[in-house]
Amino acid sequence: MSKRTKWDTKGDLDESKNLPIYQHKATLQQAVKDNSFLVVTGETGSGKTTQLPQYLHQAGFWGNGKIGITQPRRVAAITVAQRVSQEMHCSLGREVGYQVRFDDCTTQDTVVKYMTDGCLLREILADPVLSQYSVVILDEAHERSLNTDILLGLLKQTLSSPDKASKGRSVPLKVVVMSATLETDKLSVFLGGCPVFTIPGRTFPVTSKFSCAIGPKDTESSVYVKEVVKVALDVHTSEMAGDILVFLTGQSEIEKACDMLYEKAESIDYRYDVQDHKVEGLLILPLYGSMPTDQQKQIFQPPPPGIRKCVVATNIAATSLTINGVKYIVDSGFVKQLNHNSRVGMDILEVVPISKSEALQRAGRAGRTSAGKCFRIYSPAFWEKCMPEYTVPEIQRTSLTAVILTLKCLGVHDVIKFPYLDRPEERFILEALKQLYQCDAIDRRGKVTRLGELMVEFPLPPGLTRALLQAASLGCEDLLLPVAAMLSVENIFIRPGHPEKQKEADKKHRQLGVQAGSCNDFTMLLSVFEKCKASDAPSAWCKDNYIHWRALKSAFSVETQLREILLRLQKRDFPMEKFNGNKSELFRRCLCTGYFTNVARRSVGKVFCTMDGHGSMVHIHPSSTLFDQEAQLDWVIFHDLLVTSRIYIRTVCPIRYDWVKDLLPKLHEVDVYELSSVAREEVTDEEVAKWVTKEAAKRQTGGSAEDV
Ligand code: ADP
Ligand code: MG
Repeated sequence: MSKRTKWDTKGDLDESKNLPIYQHKATLQQAVKDNSFLVVTGETGSGKTTQLPQYLHQAGFWGNGKIGITQPRRVAAITVAQRVSQEMHCSLGREVGYQVRFDDCTTQDTVVKYMTDGCLLREILADPVLSQYSVVILDEAHERSLNTDILLGLLKQTLSSPDKASKGRSVPLKVVVMSATLETDKLSVFLGGCPVFTIPGRTFPVTSKFSCAIGPKDTESSVYVKEVVKVALDVHTSEMAGDILVFLTGQSEIEKACDMLYEKAESIDYRYDVQDHKVEGLLILPLYGSMPTDQQKQIFQPPPPGIRKCVVATNIAATSLTINGVKYIVDSGFVKQLNHNSRVGMDILEVVPISKSEALQRAGRAGRTSAGKCFRIYSPAFWEKCMPEYTVPEIQRTSLTAVILTLKCLGVHDVIKFPYLDRPEERFILEALKQLYQCDAIDRRGKVTRLGELMVEFPLPPGLTRALLQAASLGCEDLLLPVAAMLSVENIFIRPGHPEKQKEADKKHRQLGVQAGSCNDFTMLLSVFEKCKASDAPSAWCKDNYIHWRALKSAFSVETQLREILLRLQKRDFPMEKFNGNKSELFRRCLCTGYFTNVARRSVGKVFCTMDGHGSMVHIHPSSTLFDQEAQLDWVIFHDLLVTSRIYIRTVCPIRYDWVKDLLPKLHEVDVYELSSVAREEVTDEEVAKWVTKEAAKRQTGGSAEDV
């Protein structure tokens, strides 16, 4: 028997008393009272995230303000808030609530608030001393997410200056930083030598086995998906009872693996094929970020007697969420990560080998309640040659544009001297300043402009925000708001696995494109949004057109929220302009204002060349409405890139050179040292000279618009 249906068992909420943290409740409550900063560390699953906020609630901290807990991942914030509201016997959104980007589930009554680190950063913008909070807990600090790192620096700065810290507050803010064992000394030193509270935990030995399936050269997803499925089935048939946790990279790989597992598990004969005769079935459950939360709940429930649970998850199951009962790990050795790609000069999600410390953390998930086994599908050579020792913190590998703007708006003008736990390379900071200057968010001296102050209010990438504000100033925000919303939710187009169905879906999508009139991928998004909104039966309309109804529903809600932000800003001193031209041109020209950094021109055949100085050769992605029409195109802008063996541009729109002619020189004529006036004082003349020569050389070879 294999199952993937729902069933109901109520979790035993009293089990919280058995968690390692329970013994230390009183000491922890006291430690938070006694210190401004406290670092708390303990094995994953010891009860930090779910219990500590409740202990602080019981100790009465909520009387002085909310208890806020940040998470780097939105799913973790939502799932944990749900769990804690159950444990505290209240409905979600009352005493216990959560807030993540575009989804606020809190009320006036909320005193224990789980949220993403990005949300707290936005709150600091409006209220720098966080006057509504008594305690702020930065959870999962070891993950070293960009926003948590920035929050650490900001809170350190605020609390270490007594004037700033007490302004607007009746009692001082308490800050707790939680981390799974790693780097606690470093955190404590960074926070002025604050105490470290260690929750002792017991772990059991985990034996790890390498295999030779994945060597240093295998990065095709089909290889590792097939291999984890094979290994998971081997474990199921040959190992004693105990649940399996498979680590994969992302939604589509996970869904593929679950389908394959399901199909193969069907044909297992439990009389002959399976060693442990107490095992009579396999329950297959996916776990990834954008999954509906009611489905996520299932992964925590113990399987029915005789059934082995097999959870196929992203890295979220490594530390953010703990699944009880896991005895076997199948580790693909890969993770999907946002990295700055120097080849194309942009951040892209890519599949990369995990670090050795990450691999140890994954393996550790098998040893929480008894000895466990970890099956690595990669070879010792892969471990040695391809896996770094530690994961590089996000701040050192992604674009800093949005956070630098936030810092500047918070009055941190000197973004180079800011207290970073790990300093990003200066060139990344300079790059961010350059981008902010290019989209008019800061001026030549690095000061935030009026436009920059408006831009920081939107939880969107700077280019998209710039385009949206341009549209608003021309009175045509109704064209851009839906597009911005559609680009902020998961992919709305369904691509069925079955080839026949896929053909039908492609046909429907093409029809939608034709109906959209002057067709490009942005108008396509707009048209789908409007059509569905106008429909009497929107969910049926979506089903019929192979569109994700759930994603569209979120897009509707996101659009409303963006509109509210805009309306609020329009009450301020909002710039207005006039435009004489047709609507299609107006729409595309607004896009150009934000996306002129993403301009490409067709060179030969189907190949385009980007104009940002990197001069990358790119292709239009097959999912684009413009795919196969390349011959008719000349200049285009695009929303993002996908790098495989080729570089693809996605969400594409044809433009006229005239519209970007005046903007393109901005890509090349920036003096980054002027933007960062502080940096300028610190660099030697020699370094400046080097930089200038390099920029000049780039200008000559990099192919600016005027050259072609
Ligand atoms: P830590 O933060 O120290 O890693 P957690 O507080 O996340 O630990 O987890 C403590 C326990 O609570 C674990 O045994 C975990 O399985 C359980 N737990 C957490 N969330 C849920 C949930 N939504 N449903 C059931 N059990 C949960
Ligand atoms: Mg936790």
